[in-house]
Amino acid sequence: MTPKKQCKRCGTEFTYKNITAKFCSHKCRQAAYERRLKERRLENENSRRKSQQCSPLSNNIPKIKEKTLIRQISMNEEMLRQYMVVATMIGMYLAIELRKKFR
Ligand SMILES: [Zn+2]
Repeated sequence: MTPKKQCKRCGTEFTYKNITAKFCSHKCRQAAYERRLKERRLENENSRRKSQQCSPLSNNIPKIKEKTLIRQISMNEEMLRQYMVVATMIGMYLAIELRKKFR
């Protein structure tokens, strides 16, 4: 009985001499190798592009600073509004008290 395997590239059954063989012919092995190379190159390119998008960390820092700054400003605005409300209430109270006094 001759040992047979299916080619990883074209799917043809082939008899192998080496147990680690994956391809029916040199041509298939070469083609698969080239495809793997191409895939790896593409992967490298993609990861490089990704790291280029992420790597300018210095670009992200001002954005974060800006955000916290905006949050601080809006917090101050909120506090200011609350002070205004309190001041208005005090002013109204004083006005009512004064009106009582001078009546
Ligand atoms: Zn093949």
